[in-house]
Parts: sequence; C-alpha cells; structure tokens
Amino acid sequence: MKRIPLVIANWKMHGQIEWMQHYIHEFVKASGTPGQSEIVLCPPFVYLQQLKVLLRETEVGLGAQNLHDSEQGAFTGEVSAPMLKELGCSYVVVGHSERRRLFGETDAAVAAKFAAARLYSLVPILCVGENEAERAAGITERVVQRQLDAVLQSCGIDVFAGAVIAYEPVWAIGTGVTATPAQAQAVHGFIRNYIASLSPSSASSMRVLYGGSVRASNVAELAQEPDVDGALVGGASLVAKEFLAICAGFNK
Ligand code: PEP
Repeated sequence: MKRIPLVIANWKMHGQIEWMQHYIHEFVKASGTPGQSEIVLCPPFVYLQQLKVLLRETEVGLGAQNLHDSEQGAFTGEVSAPMLKELGCSYVVVGHSERRRLFGETDAAVAAKFAAARLYSLVPILCVGENEAERAAGITERVVQRQLDAVLQSCGIDVFAGAVIAYEPVWAIGTGVTATPAQAQAVHGFIRNYIASLSPSSASSMRVLYGGSVRASNVAELAQEPDVDGALVGGASLVAKEFLAICAGFNK
C-alpha cells in the first residue's frame, strides 16, 4: 500500500505571535510547488486559533501537542479532544517522551488519551521509544512493544488502521544524535511486523514516523528506508526553511 509521507512540526513551548506570522510567511513563500508530503504544524495550545487563521489558504494541517482524556470537567490547565476538534485540529501528539518523563504520563494514561482523541476523530500521533539505558540493555523492542500493548489492550487493533506512530528514541530527541537509518528501520520494521501479526491491513495503512534530531542534512537517508513514512521534528522545525527542506526530503 502506498503511504503518503507525513511530516510533523512539534514546536514544543516555542514561538510567539509575531514569530509565527513571520514563519508562515516564509513557509508559504518558499514552498512554491506543492510537495508530495502531508505537513502538519503543532504549536502550543494558545496559538492554535491564530495558526488556523494563518494556514487558511494552505494545505498545511493543524495539530496539538497534548490533550486530556476527559471531555470536560474540573481539570485546571487541561484541554480536551472536543476543544481541539473545535479549533480545527486534525492531529494530536500523545505520549511524547517529554510528557512521559517530565509529567509522569504512564502507558495507561497515554492509552486513555489515545482513546479520547479517536473518539473525537482526531488522529493520535502515538510516540514510542526507548531511552539510552534501555537501548544499551538490548530491550528496545520490549519497551516499544509494551508501549504499543497499552493502546492495543484498551483500544483494540482496529484503531491502528490509518494510525500514526512516531518512533522517537529518547536518546536522539534534542540531542543532535540521530538514529542511523539502519537503527530506525529496524525498529520501524519491528513496529509494522508486530501490528501486522494482529492485523496485516492496519499495518500496511499506518504511518510510522521517525523522530529524533532530524535535520535537512540527514533526512534523505532516513527517508529511503522502506518503513520510514515521515518524520516528527522538534528543534529543526523552528526554522521555516529548514523544516521545508526536511519535508522536501520525503518527496520521492
Ligand atoms: C521531538 O521532540 O519530538 C523531537 C523529535 O525533537 P528533536 O527533533 O529536537 O530531536
């Protein structure tokens, strides 16, 4: 099955209104002919509305970086799936390693967020990946399988049809150290084979993105790998031209 490459910018807690206006201006000016990849920008919550307006005349999609698993309630500081939907989001990141590590999100909490996103027709971008010690101990696949199993157990296999999984080795995020294409392909292949063992059609339709210090300078070799269907980009997505070059790296 042919999968359209997907390239997602995770701006994390960066950006201000003026910066964003300039960024989108640069992005639109430089993008010229439409590429073959689907592109999504994930700004901080407070800029979603503004960014939606700025992206009105473009094909670029909108995503959020997180959500709460409840529809509404007394959860100070949180944002729900229907709120994101109303703001025009199509995607939402769930289980980013910074959320797991700095905010104590467990596999079960990530699975609940995944389910909430699906309920409101948002596509969850499920982040999985091992840390440095886990890789050194040779348990990368075990860790990734555990993270997938949490979602499988609470949501079932069907949710993986058309899903987006981001393999993000924690040791590669924001470090400037990128997984080699072979390392990325090995884990991407493992993820696809694991899902295929439960549902071949889900496995062939889902997109597995790589994340971890992707740059314009290293995207081409990653993009050649058969199971790398796009990228989730942090730091390098903050510079419009660099991010565009990364997107272009997936044009075949
Ligand atoms: C990320 O935070 O998802 C990420 C991949 O960051 P970076 O590209 O900066 O490593």
